[in-house]
Amino acid sequence: MKIRAAVLEEFAEPLVLQELDLEGPKAGEVLVRLHACGVCHTDMYSASGVDPSGYKPCVLGHEGAGVVEEVGEGVTSVAAGDHVVTLFSPQCGECVNCRSGKTNICLAIREQQGKGYLPDGTTRLKRDGEELRHFMGCSTFAEATVMPEIALAKVNPDAPLEAACLFACGLSTGLGAAMYRAQVEEGSTVVVFGLGMVGLGAVAGARLQGAERIIAVDLSEERLALARDHGATDAWVGGDGTVERVLEETGGFGADYTFEATGNVGVMRQAVESARMGWGVCCVTGVAGKGETLDVVPRYLITGRKVMGASFGGVKGREQVPQLVDRYLAGDIDVDAFVSHRISLDDVNSGFDLMHHQDGIRSVIQYV
Ligand SMILES: [Zn+2]
Ligand SMILES: [Zn+2]
Repeated sequence: MKIRAAVLEEFAEPLVLQELDLEGPKAGEVLVRLHACGVCHTDMYSASGVDPSGYKPCVLGHEGAGVVEEVGEGVTSVAAGDHVVTLFSPQCGECVNCRSGKTNICLAIREQQGKGYLPDGTTRLKRDGEELRHFMGCSTFAEATVMPEIALAKVNPDAPLEAACLFACGLSTGLGAAMYRAQVEEGSTVVVFGLGMVGLGAVAGARLQGAERIIAVDLSEERLALARDHGATDAWVGGDGTVERVLEETGGFGADYTFEATGNVGVMRQAVESARMGWGVCCVTGVAGKGETLDVVPRYLITGRKVMGASFGGVKGREQVPQLVDRYLAGDIDVDAFVSHRISLDDVNSGFDLMHHQDGIRSVIQYV
């Protein structure tokens, strides 16, 4: 079939809208008609050429939601008409990692996905006979895509797809970091550094877990106000004195849980040092620049702090994304407030510009 898609032709250049051929789903694959897709920082990072593992030409986009149109041989868990959220972090349920129950990092298709191919090592995207690669196993900056069955979460069809798509990446990463990875306990004190989509998700997740005090830290007053709407009890403008202020306001001990969602290694260090002696947990979710390292004074570890990280917030996609969407439908998470701009696929480059200028939380591409 013919589809319109945004293609990364040259690094550090705008994406190019064009018509491509999308082949139908092979065994274990699913054709999804996209309805909405968030524009995420990782797309922009890859397009910039700074990502050492980046490649071109390919179709970017990984925060998609849509409707199943056709399934390949052997696909049983989804059927035509099902509403799905795309998962760059799949869940096969069978690999050693999935079976352990201890991690959401599935090994099943990792290698081929990283290279831009579907699990059988080929691509479904072509342009005049030339192959184009997929991106993060998703390629959702397109009217339709073909993805492995294990990389789709079937969600409640009552959820508007423009909201559901945010669960494909940023929002789930923040919610999951608080709910599943760090497992914030009721009554605890939490600090969240950085209030983009991930940080705001962590604020909401901490609230759902019953945290008593949630301190949101960012440089933008606008984002601090938004964090209050999602459950932050305190909103602080970040800076050099943040660690001292956390200690001061927690009887000199530090916070039970701290979350870092900026990708800045200096802020990561603040997050470690703001965690409580004895049992404080620091959870890192931001992606640091290539070659950067996190400086931690070992004494912080010896005196009982734990430092952890999470990819996709530790969320087991097929199992837990539908649960998170249900909580949205139950009114527990105000997802609509995160959609700051609605754009067409043709405006995808302006979505990057908005993100570059930190204008709003999420731009969502609407396809239908
Ligand atoms: Zn993302
Ligand atoms: Zn697996």
